Amino acid sequence: MQPLDVLVVAPHPDDAEISVGGIIAASRRQNLRVGVIDLTSGEPTPRGTPERRREETEQATKVLDLSWRSNLDLPNRSLQPTLDARRRLAEVFRLTRPGIILAPWWQDVHPDHVAASSLCDDARFWAKLSRSDMEGEPFWPPRLLHFLSIHLRIHPSPSVVMDITPDIETKMTAIRCFGSQLTIGQDQPFPSVLDDIRDRARYWGWAISTGYGEPLMNRESVGISSLTSLL
Ligand SMILES: [Zn+2]
Repeated sequence: MQPLDVLVVAPHPDDAEISVGGIIAASRRQNLRVGVIDLTSGEPTPRGTPERRREETEQATKVLDLSWRSNLDLPNRSLQPTLDARRRLAEVFRLTRPGIILAPWWQDVHPDHVAASSLCDDARFWAKLSRSDMEGEPFWPPRLLHFLSIHLRIHPSPSVVMDITPDIETKMTAIRCFGSQLTIGQDQPFPSVLDDIRDRARYWGWAISTGYGEPLMNRESVGISSLTSLL
């Protein structure tokens, strides 16, 4: 397949939409090839079923106009960075050959998210191994950034914030596809989950003097050859 520019690694279907739905929509608008690998089905949840979650994921995939999406069907709620999971995710990296991987931030209280973050590091390393029986050719994903899909009410300092002002409605439409995870159209107390998501995007937009934004964390240095890169 044609290599992806960006691959989002999501522990559960809806994490990509909630955390980087705007970045995905903006990147597609800019003609980048963007894919999502969901690690688990995300089920069981109180009001979801595997079938319904799959349909919701298909709808959100259309809204975001993704170039590629798949699911590794690793165990939800008990996701672990096992050797088998590492191999399977490394094979995805070797197949899709993304220029940028967007992975969950390592700091969280949801064990699946912490495990997914660790798994991304492990699989990134394994993806480059030669003399291996893994599918695909050796490949070192050059850039790994982390998105905030966290269940902690904290104030992290992101490395970059991307302006998603033109894409906020596409992000919210994609998130609303996951009706099994949201109480939509019912009387519910303020603030709803959707209020929280939109207000956080507005907060990060405020942080960079624009309408809406999405933050990314980066452990590795970004090289520049001109200050114009920062203008
Ligand atoms: Zn999740």
